Amino acid sequence: MSECVFCRIVAGEIPSDIIYEDDTVLAFKDINPQAPVHLLLIPKDHIPSLLELTEADRGLLAHIFAVIQQLAREYELDKKGFRTVINTGDEGGQTVHHLHFHLLGGRFMQWPPG
Ligand code: AMP
Ligand code: ZN
Repeated sequence: MSECVFCRIVAGEIPSDIIYEDDTVLAFKDINPQAPVHLLLIPKDHIPSLLELTEADRGLLAHIFAVIQQLAREYELDKKGFRTVINTGDEGGQTVHHLHFHLLGGRFMQWPPG
């Protein structure tokens, strides 16, 4: 059994609020939402972080961004805007070491981030 919480969500071993799924990508609601809409998109394959991405992942990345566009429209974030975040490493605030894209919206976002 994987020790990676997101691999366990992919495997159906941990319940999650899945809102999108296809052969390569899963999207689900963040368990601790930081905005009215807070979704996580992950590749189903275990990629630890942005640092392990390679040119061979270009198709996967283009697909993930297409899914982000689709979900942003479904959640009606496309008109007002939204934020997409990839935290990497300790100082980047990464707590789950399986690549994930945060999709946050439904409130005004501050800059710089905390
Ligand atoms: P990060 O800090 O960028 O690694 O983000 C990890 C995110 O995963 C956090 O926003 C957590 O709230 C979220 N998270 C952790 N465990 C779960 C879970 N079982 N289901 C949904 N979201 C989770
Ligand atoms: Zn994983």
